[in-house]
Amino acid sequence: MTQKRRSRAGQPAAQAAQPAVMGVPLSHPDKALWPDGGDGAPVTKLELAQYYKKVGGWMLPHIAGRPCSIMRAPDGIEGERFFQRHAMAGQSSLLSQVKVPGDRKPYLQIDRAEALATVAQAGGLELHPWNCAPGKPDVPGRLVFDLDPGPGVEFDAVVQAARELKHRLEALGLAPWPRTTGGKGLHVVTPIAAGALGWDQAKAFARRLCEQMAADSPDRYLVKMAKRARAGKIFLDYLRNDRMATAVAPLSPRARDGATVAMPLTWGQVKKGLDPHRFTIRTAPGLIAKSKAWRGYADSERPLKPALKKLT
Ligand code: ATP
Ligand code: MN
Repeated sequence: MTQKRRSRAGQPAAQAAQPAVMGVPLSHPDKALWPDGGDGAPVTKLELAQYYKKVGGWMLPHIAGRPCSIMRAPDGIEGERFFQRHAMAGQSSLLSQVKVPGDRKPYLQIDRAEALATVAQAGGLELHPWNCAPGKPDVPGRLVFDLDPGPGVEFDAVVQAARELKHRLEALGLAPWPRTTGGKGLHVVTPIAAGALGWDQAKAFARRLCEQMAADSPDRYLVKMAKRARAGKIFLDYLRNDRMATAVAPLSPRARDGATVAMPLTWGQVKKGLDPHRFTIRTAPGLIAKSKAWRGYADSERPLKPALKKLT
């Protein structure tokens, strides 16, 4: 039996129908944020909030306790977009605010799953946390190696680069974890134990490792920023490794065609034929529930000091 929805006098019916996700009411729940979720149907704001609800528990350990920039596109990926770093007056109390040394304005931080619903409500399509240790904005907590293919590079070559980086990191005693970016490349993430080393040394480590890899295969890799030199090569970007630098969070959606997400993978999945477009807001929740990707991540922090010693 269907119940007839009656609007009270003076109240628009649409308001009565406003849905809530994790207790957060959503305005314009039917607004299309991605025109095509990879299967022809648009992805709405309601679906984005429901996606965050499904994967929030998985994501949270990787974003909580760190300042987090949010890429907002309130009218969807074809509209205006901007990065929000700082907390704003009047923002939901579900979002945390964090002060960091050197900036008087507090930064945004996401410490609970419900905050992700307010992110969806605000048209927050991408999450970009710092790579600090949780609760310690000045202490490196993980390194992120960003593999960016230049024009004309096959994705299988990026897969090869990620695997080579895996072996190099393991040889240095570190534990590497792979993810797609939801874009054109791959990230390799390695958690580091809070120790004596700061970002200067962590960045120097990442730089030296990338330089060694590029020196061994100069026809395949480069570490220089110059866009023009990148054709046919993979840019090994070590610059994600700095105090205020960000990298996209695992399972964050991307404001790109097809509603792709940054998908955490097992190394077994990082092989020839890997197709990052398979991982979307629609497919990722089911896939991650069954996946062993990043299992053991929380116990895989390794000290950087001995790794740096081995490298030099
Ligand atoms: P792709 O695989 O397509 O390169 P990506 O996430 O690695 O995806 P990049 O452009 O290589 O995208 O940037 C790497 C990271 O640097 C991003 O994940 C993001 O966190 C950060 N970043 C890049 N550009 C900006 C920006 N304009 N503002 C804030 N952070 C940015
Ligand atoms: Mn990249």
